[in-house]
Amino acid sequence: MRLILLGPPGAGKGTQAEVIQQAFSIPKLSTGDMLRAEVASGSGLGKKLQEVMSSGQLVSDEIMIELIRSRLGQNDCAKGYILDGFPRTHAQAEALDVMLDALGAPLDVVIELKVDDAALVARIAGRYSCTNCGAGYHDAFKQPAKLGVCDQCGSTEFSRRADDSAETVSKRLLAYHAQTAPLLPYYHQHGLLKTLDGMAPIGVVTDEILKTLQAALVAA
Ligand code: ADP
Ligand code: ADP
Ligand code: ZN
Repeated sequence: MRLILLGPPGAGKGTQAEVIQQAFSIPKLSTGDMLRAEVASGSGLGKKLQEVMSSGQLVSDEIMIELIRSRLGQNDCAKGYILDGFPRTHAQAEALDVMLDALGAPLDVVIELKVDDAALVARIAGRYSCTNCGAGYHDAFKQPAKLGVCDQCGSTEFSRRADDSAETVSKRLLAYHAQTAPLLPYYHQHGLLKTLDGMAPIGVVTDEILKTLQAALVAA
């Protein structure tokens, strides 16, 4: 199963990718996580990335395409993967098509999570994650079963992203509408796009995604 989760910041891509990853035993390739790992390494590249990310803009296509090219070549991607946060521009989508053509391994489905901008602002404002394992949470919509203890790994350390501030969010939404939303008609034309209601509660969205993926498997 090779799929893209497409949607604005805060739509629930990472949250749903965690579930799909376990249900299908395929890796989640989150470009945001990869970039944050590079920033955390303290490298020269990481410092440049941090500047771009904290301004709410997109990292260059050149860097992103090479990042994904090397990741898709790793063994754990042989049976499929979930792309979370890539592609975000036309140039990235076209480069991905060329890569997948060369591998003879086309995409199965592109799932759009559709969410209103006002809801996104509230989601991003309350978002936090486990510092140890990365599991995602929300102050109002997804607390761990035992408050302050990660459901996945038991850690009691949590963190919030520096770019989840009110100022940066509006810039990231603008970038989404200008640069990423135009990919929706592109994937629609390729017969790959399935649009789901991302405003529904987390578990309802998960059920809809799993149904969509089962249908894509049957059709393949
Ligand atoms: P993305 O990866 O698309 O940026 P996340 O998966 O990180 O989005 O979700 C953003 C925040 O909203 C997280 O705190 C998450 O717990 C919460 N969230 C995700 N899906 C929903 C939903 N369907 N309803 C309410 N809150 C959600
Ligand atoms: P969200 O889902 O909340 O938008 P991500 O974790 O996917 O956040 O991305 C965080 C930041 O990393 C983006 O605002 C952008 O600066 C950068 N980024 C991630 N993926 C890409 C990409 N495919 N192209 C360009 N920049 C990216
Ligand atoms: Zn954890």
